[in-house]
Amino acid sequence: MSKRDDLAPETDFAQGLHFVDEQTGSIVPPITPSTTFARRENYELIAADHSYGRDQNPTYRVAERLLMKSEGAADALLFSSGMAAAVTVIQCLGPGDHVVIPRVMYWGLRNWMLEFCTHWGIELDQFDASDPDDLARKVRTGATRLVWIETPCNPTWDIVDIEAAAAVAHAAGARLVVDSTVATPVLTQPLSLGADIVMHSATKYLNGHGDVVAGALVTARTDEFWKRVRLMRAEGGAILGSFEAWLLQRGMRTLFLRVRHACRSAMTIARHFESHSALERVLYPGLPSHPGHEIAARQMHGGFGGMLSLLVKGDEAAALEVAGKCEVFVRATSLGGVESLIEHRYSIEGPSSPIPRNLLRLSVGAESVEDLIDDLQQALC
Ligand code: PLP
Repeated sequence: MSKRDDLAPETDFAQGLHFVDEQTGSIVPPITPSTTFARRENYELIAADHSYGRDQNPTYRVAERLLMKSEGAADALLFSSGMAAAVTVIQCLGPGDHVVIPRVMYWGLRNWMLEFCTHWGIELDQFDASDPDDLARKVRTGATRLVWIETPCNPTWDIVDIEAAAAVAHAAGARLVVDSTVATPVLTQPLSLGADIVMHSATKYLNGHGDVVAGALVTARTDEFWKRVRLMRAEGGAILGSFEAWLLQRGMRTLFLRVRHACRSAMTIARHFESHSALERVLYPGLPSHPGHEIAARQMHGGFGGMLSLLVKGDEAAALEVAGKCEVFVRATSLGGVESLIEHRYSIEGPSSPIPRNLLRLSVGAESVEDLIDDLQQALC
């Protein structure tokens, strides 16, 4: 592992923290599939922090340390999925606690929270992330334990001011948790803006190759709440498999290259189609026309992300027709991989969805941006 603390994050990611195996010279970390770890004659563990493989897995080390370093965190934990990571945070709350979440956010998590919180006796309120004052109206001093935000927010890419949200949450005595899946550690460090915990669906940009489902939490402090989170993973067992953890650390080596390329291409596509006659609007925080542009320019560094949405003129059928004509964009859910994806969110989320029926979500990958533009151009004709 690197002895230097002064290297740029992209150097740390590219080198997997300068990993060199002292025994073999290998520059690729090994996979450790062992579920148990041996003890010496005197019954001491051979490696003090490795006893049982439910959550003590040396294969996690590179990915967790990269996240800690790039987010400026006190600790980081991998989970079996982004949902498992998010759910663990909520499960550390108790009956009577009050939580505030955005009205528009990753719908799978919002649905789970609505269902689970009712069941568990946690009170839940939703705020409008496009209204900068709504969060302050929804928190309750002394009762709100947790404020959850997602920025940029799926799939309208609304931007929440993390610093302002942290001030509101803390004034009420609550923790701020940020789903930073879309921003990634390349573009935003929420802990440095006052957040307490950051969550990533590592399935997306962190892994980036569409072949691992994983999640992560990072924390500003190893306080009592975090100890509970750790215990929840150790005893609840929502852990990542060794092979998946190994693939994840390999994917993370190219995170900076992939995210920067995606940001450049997404910006080019957004600008190209902003005034297209077949579109009502292009939603991308990099465009000055986006309501969150100013805040995004302040809290995102080096780009505005690889995600954008197109509001097609017409109804659901018109949007589906455009998606149906695409030959380079793959029609599939998820985001943050090397292959560009197009998705009609309303078809996925169903009638309870607040998402406009004419919205197509684009996840921009690593392809030639000219090919992507040509593909959309012919699909919009
Ligand atoms: N957060 C965001 C922003 C997501 O897009 C997703 C998945 O689409 C999740 C969380 C959940 O992550 P996972 O699919 O890894 O459980």
